[in-house]
Amino acid sequence: MRSCTICIHLNRSDIDAAIVNGTPYRDIAGRFQVSKTAVARHADGHVAESIHKSKEALEEVMALDVAHELTWCNQSAHQIYDAALSGEKPDPRTAITALGEVRKQAELWAELQGELDRGTTIELVEHPDWINLREIIFAALTPWPDAQVAVARAILAAGGQNVA
Ligand SMILES: [Zn+2]
Repeated sequence: MRSCTICIHLNRSDIDAAIVNGTPYRDIAGRFQVSKTAVARHADGHVAESIHKSKEALEEVMALDVAHELTWCNQSAHQIYDAALSGEKPDPRTAITALGEVRKQAELWAELQGELDRGTTIELVEHPDWINLREIIFAALTPWPDAQVAVARAILAAGGQNVA
């Protein structure tokens, strides 16, 4: 099979851009001194493939972005939680909100990792990390029994089980 004259063309990226922009093959062929047939064949076989590849690369970058954002959200929620429970006037309500945020993020993260879909929240609830986190939450809220009850209710309402 003959190699594609467009793929090895010095102006390949310009030609690809023209194809993607919908420039008529005839015009591209004239501008870059190549045959219209070569442009058509390249457009059908090779441009689609490279667009697909850059789309995959873009999706990867976006996934990394999501991971970065989630990490940031998680750290912020932890900081809010710590801040709410330290100092002279602890604010359990804000702490609970922050915990809810951490839990949502954990779910979303698991979902993104493909470990979980929205229908099987129970898996997270049974996950050792979550059970451990739940114990930490309850221990941390010991000085505020009302808050413990509120957290327990919120977890139950969200579909949790076996809340201590
Ligand atoms: Zn080609």
